[in-house]
Amino acid sequence: MRVILACAAAAVAVTFAVPAAAQAQRPQIATTKVDGTEGVYIYRNGNHQSMFIVTKDGVIATDPIAYGRPTGGQQYVDEIKKVTDKPIKYLIYSHVHFDHIAGGKAFKDAGARVIAHKNATARLKVLKDPHTVMPDESIGDKKTIKLGGTTLELSYLGLNHSDSTLVMRLPKEKIVFIVDTIPVGAFPGRGFIDIYPLETEEFIKKVIAMDWDRMIPGHPGPGDRLGTKDDAKAVLTLMQEASAAIKTDAQAGKCWDAVEKDFKMEKYATLPGYANGLPMVARRYCALWGRGA
Ligand SMILES: [Zn+2]
Repeated sequence: MRVILACAAAAVAVTFAVPAAAQAQRPQIATTKVDGTEGVYIYRNGNHQSMFIVTKDGVIATDPIAYGRPTGGQQYVDEIKKVTDKPIKYLIYSHVHFDHIAGGKAFKDAGARVIAHKNATARLKVLKDPHTVMPDESIGDKKTIKLGGTTLELSYLGLNHSDSTLVMRLPKEKIVFIVDTIPVGAFPGRGFIDIYPLETEEFIKKVIAMDWDRMIPGHPGPGDRLGTKDDAKAVLTLMQEASAAIKTDAQAGKCWDAVEKDFKMEKYATLPGYANGLPMVARRYCALWGRGA
């Protein structure tokens, strides 16, 4: 069975083959403890996921992932309550895209302090999305949260998939939570619509230089595996190759129609999302090299 999993707004569109039996058994919502950690969990709702950390003094939650799911925020809170009776102290937005941050009201009602990058807050003030709670605190390049013996670093490393992405790093656990910018085992897709391509290359290099072993992505990887630095390097290489190829075509006057029709990256043809993602990637690099945008 072929399943198309598409995120709204600008996230990654992923197409992959799932055995019919496995797909039928996969629940809409699942909470999984990350191996080898004391209190790091992945909460998944459909094809979106976020990280939460349980400490002795409370819970740090991220992304409500409830776009188009009116009960999704409360369901996430309920999942946390199954794991701990500690209060939810924080809700941290990974970046501004609604498919990841809509649905925070249940967290706010539970007493959580909502934190986002200042560019996300500025955008939310303009858009006034009725399903997305405004942050209580807007941060710049860096903030460190310490709660119940856990340290979580929030870093803004410049433009990338969005202008508001926070890299969330657990230094003790050597885990990062990075949403959308580095797809795990999948070809980039719809998320390319508003990506900053050149800046993303620099962003990925900075992420690779950080100290971590495992990456929790905002969309499940194949078999729910976590990402590694090799995944980050693979995405960087893919982007550099696509950029170089389309730069030549663009400067030869072939953008947009000819490139969107003819652009191929055969070595990635087996990656999930390849067929759907190609025109998205071609269009964005035509915008860059053929238009200057
Ligand atoms: Zn996104």
